[in-house]
Amino acid sequence: MRQFAVTAFALAATLACASGSTTPTAATTTTTGTNTTGTTNTGGSTTPSLPSGYEKFTNGTSVQISGNFVVVSTTDVPNHKSPYFGVGNANYVAPTAGIVLNPSHIAAQSYVLRIPIAPAAAASPGDTPLDAIGVALNGVVFFNQYAAGRVPLTTEIVSFDQYNGHPAMQNNYHYHFEPLYLTAATKSALIGFILDGYPIYGPQETSGSAPTGLDACNGHTHATLEYPNGIYHYHVVSSPPYLVGCFHGTAGTVTN
Ligand SMILES: [Zn+2]
Ligand SMILES: [Zn+2]
Repeated sequence: MRQFAVTAFALAATLACASGSTTPTAATTTTTGTNTTGTTNTGGSTTPSLPSGYEKFTNGTSVQISGNFVVVSTTDVPNHKSPYFGVGNANYVAPTAGIVLNPSHIAAQSYVLRIPIAPAAAASPGDTPLDAIGVALNGVVFFNQYAAGRVPLTTEIVSFDQYNGHPAMQNNYHYHFEPLYLTAATKSALIGFILDGYPIYGPQETSGSAPTGLDACNGHTHATLEYPNGIYHYHVVSSPPYLVGCFHGTAGTVTN
């Protein structure tokens, strides 16, 4: 186990070579060492600028513009403690009472999400697939409300760690539920972006109240901190579909 932990850390440090954030976050365990690239916009004057909120990615997540897409590249290794790190890893923590670990562990991935830079409502909502449906601001991917075979998560919930994440068969860590590490300070915070380009927020509005009028995809439209002119956005809720019930817009693509 010790050897695994050292290897995983080395991989994470190697792969997390570009940072999408220029904003230091106190709670972030940096794996990048240096933070020299920042948010990259290499296309010159004809390249659209990054939508608001993308500057909040941390944990070595790379955010770049490519044509009409924001390309988010991530190792998917969380910047918080988890019992799914190998013993000896700096972020290993023993499971708390009630957690039944699954057989997988956390290992660095090579996720690349191509997210529409200008999200637009689709003619009809799209089904979310298994595997990544979006990415949290710490580079960890979001999964939908189903386990393999599109069965409810019921039997898997016990394997979630203290921040509501767990790894899948490819040792790819992910959140199906509210990523508690990202909402610990502010329950109304932006927590990431979904593959169709729309942002996703915590379980409260800035007023502290629960979101109202959510549609089947778990979203609605009003002004937010990042989008004062109003935008369609999702909220995480405490019952299925938890994050996103369907894609309101046309989804981009994911590779890993
Ligand atoms: Zn899962
Ligand atoms: Zn809202």
